[in-house]
This record gives sequence, structure tokens and C-alpha cells, in this order.
Amino acid sequence: MGTKHTLNDALLTGYAAGTLPEAFDLVVATHLSLNDESRAALGAYEAVGGCLLEEAPAADVGSEALAATLARIKSSPPRERAAPPASSGVFPAPLRAYVGGDVDAVRWRPLGGGVRQALLPTSGPARARLLYIPPGVAVPDHGHRGIELTLVLQGAFSDEVDRFERGDIEIADESLEHQPVADPGEPCICLAATDAPLRFRGLVPRLLQPLFRI
Ligand code: ZN
Repeated sequence: MGTKHTLNDALLTGYAAGTLPEAFDLVVATHLSLNDESRAALGAYEAVGGCLLEEAPAADVGSEALAATLARIKSSPPRERAAPPASSGVFPAPLRAYVGGDVDAVRWRPLGGGVRQALLPTSGPARARLLYIPPGVAVPDHGHRGIELTLVLQGAFSDEVDRFERGDIEIADESLEHQPVADPGEPCICLAATDAPLRFRGLVPRLLQPLFRI
């Protein structure tokens, strides 16, 4: 699991500051409950924020103070964070709260080709959805008008970038055009969030797009 499967700085800062749209916040919170590396990174961000606040009233926080703070953080293990509650299901706790249960509580709607989705109730400018992709099936080739976060909850998928499995997050933007394909074996279930409609190349997905709000 490389760093490209975890959160970037913008998402970490936004999450720590509470400024992400609700749909992104949900994906990040769910990813954090599955990924130790991202939880440690968030701990470091919160520590930096806390140190800067503590030192701010005394004087301006010069680059030396910041360097010292960062060195202190690097030399000490990340602050202990409450371990996420043990879960025997597919959905970590933050997601279960939105769905009202685990996978069997999801009300799926067919997207065609065996692919299913379930929109989740979030407010704000971004949308969150669960995606169910049967083993070996590809979702339509598409580009992005904004940011798309895709977090794997079960199974795995591969695209032009890499292969992603449970706990991995893919961050796609305008520069990426891809066609995720589910691994053979078990169905791939993902939690995805977008802040703008996707750009589909195929005619049929384009025609169906308004109906599925994808
Ligand atoms: Zn995409």
C-alpha cells in the first residue's frame, strides 16, 4: 500500500479543519478507520496545528519554531488515537451510521451491466454513493470535472493508475481519465464522492447520466 493510496495534504488539512463537503468528510472518515498510515498523518497535522496555536500569542512563529516543531513531531511517535471499534462487517462505523446498517441494509439501484449504486444522504456541494461492481466487470470509461474520491470497502479494482484494495483510496482529478475494472473473485464495493459530474465518453452512459445523478 503506497502513499498514492492514502490521503493528500489538502484532504488531511480540510478534514482536520472541518472544511470538507459532507460527502468528502464521510469518505475520509471511513478511510481513516481502515488505514493506519493516514490516521498517523492526521495525528501529525493536528499536532502541528496545536503547537502553532500554542506558540502564536508569544511571538510570530518563525521558520525556526516551525522547524523545531516538525522535528519534535518526527522524533516522537504519532499521538495515540482511539482505535476504531472492531467491526466484523464490511462497513466501518462512520459509514454504517449513514447507511443504517451494513451491506445488507443498502438499497441498491441498477446502473446497467450488473453495476449498482446507492446514493447516500449528504448535504453540500458534493455527492456520496456506494458502488457495487460484479467480479471482472468494468465501469464505463470516464474523466472528471472535479475531484473524485473512491475508497474500496470490499474486493479490489484496477485502473490506468494502479490496483486498489480494501482501505485504499484513489484521488482522481481533471487530469485523469480511467476505466476501473473489478478484480475476479468477490464483488467490489466502493464508497465514492464527487464534487462535479463525471465526463463519460460512451453515448449510453452520457444519456443515462442525469437519471443516475453520477
Ligand atoms: Zn473516476
